[in-house]
Amino acid sequence: MPQCIYRPKPYAGPSRQDVLAMRQQYCNPAIFTIYKEPLMIVEGHMQYVFDETGRRYLDLFGGIVTVSCGHGHPKVVKAIQDQVATLQHTTTIYLHPNFPLLAKMLASKMPPGLNVTYFTNSGSEANELAVLLARLYTGNTDVIALRNAYHGGSSQTMGLTSHHTWKFPAPQGIGIHHALCPDPYRSPFSGTPEEIARKSAEDIRDLVRFSTPGKIAAFIAEPIQGVGGATHGAANYLKLAYAMTRENGGLCIADEVQTGFGRTGDHYWGFQNFDVVPDIVTMAKGFGNGMPLAAVTTRMEIAESLKQRIHFNTFGGNPVAMAAGLAVLDVIEEDGLQENARVLGIRLKNGLNQLMSRHPLIGDVRGMGLMLGVELVRDRQTKEPATAETLQVFEETRNLGVLVGKGGLYGNVLRIKPPLCVTREDVDFALEVLDQALGSIH
Ligand code: PMP
Repeated sequence: MPQCIYRPKPYAGPSRQDVLAMRQQYCNPAIFTIYKEPLMIVEGHMQYVFDETGRRYLDLFGGIVTVSCGHGHPKVVKAIQDQVATLQHTTTIYLHPNFPLLAKMLASKMPPGLNVTYFTNSGSEANELAVLLARLYTGNTDVIALRNAYHGGSSQTMGLTSHHTWKFPAPQGIGIHHALCPDPYRSPFSGTPEEIARKSAEDIRDLVRFSTPGKIAAFIAEPIQGVGGATHGAANYLKLAYAMTRENGGLCIADEVQTGFGRTGDHYWGFQNFDVVPDIVTMAKGFGNGMPLAAVTTRMEIAESLKQRIHFNTFGGNPVAMAAGLAVLDVIEEDGLQENARVLGIRLKNGLNQLMSRHPLIGDVRGMGLMLGVELVRDRQTKEPATAETLQVFEETRNLGVLVGKGGLYGNVLRIKPPLCVTREDVDFALEVLDQALGSIH
């Protein structure tokens, strides 16, 4: 484990067993933990977290792609503390500088025209609002999302989500259709990734013709699918998909909840890797470095469609969340986090590709920057998902001091999306640990 001079405070709270017992007795049982022996995390420092015994872990999942600047980043902490002590809450019915300041700052990060923002508290809420805006603006109802997508757990966004594992047998989302995922690894199409991307984009046209009134409100996609396991189409996909959407009256929504804020390395926003400009961008997670902060950014004429009725959100625009967002955007620049994601993303992906050459269990390595996925299969030909083996690797990496995520429809993709402040030493250590964990599977 790389050196770290930070020492956690002695933990003095309830024991791990008591915490577990209270959860079991008083919390909704659907709230799950991810390891056989649930891990209790009580402190964090940048890319590291500590359990109640003081044991340190390298956190390669960042609170599910949310801790962008680092746990307890001093600038973000200070901004939050100062704002809490000054004014914690008023709502947007009064003027406060933080709210328009952050909206203005976001506009400066966007392509021209995308300069009006509505703040919410979660990614689900942001996507709900994006779909509402698209429906109001276009006058159409139908929305096309992608198979293997995750867009949230509220009623409309559960409908956009495309994994049966996240969908409850209850009414959800109206007028939503799922087009084929352009990722080449499990595509029903054959050919080069670009050919697969083209054929997948054509599925949007078919969906419009066969399943909608011939006009759509929107196409929504994550530039790189997060929960789906770092899946994405070739560089030509989003251009074709966006063109087809616009031909059919729809707006293009980019869900940047995981891909935004420099994570993909080459660009600030995930969509920029595909050379497209969306009409609506949604964001959350890394935006607040852990504060409940999300947003929908769009063009003024689209935003204006919400003026026809009253729309209000109690915590959207909260001064503390805004202070956190302002600090996060500064830190991404000041600490060179996008460049770090680019450089270390290359190092990590190269290392993972080397592991693939030694471990037949790895079927695919994909993603960009510090948003990477490693898909494990029992057989590279049949691509049979190695779900049980993934669980073993997952447990073993934790035993060795590294936390990664897990995803994909079959739960057979290791998701590696650390705080953007990880170092070269962390990356090399993580690769050693993964090598050892993969080697332990027989
Ligand atoms: N979109 C994407 C791409 C996500 O990954 C998530 C959360 N995993 C959401 C939307 C929903 O965000 P939240 O959990 O904040 O509602």
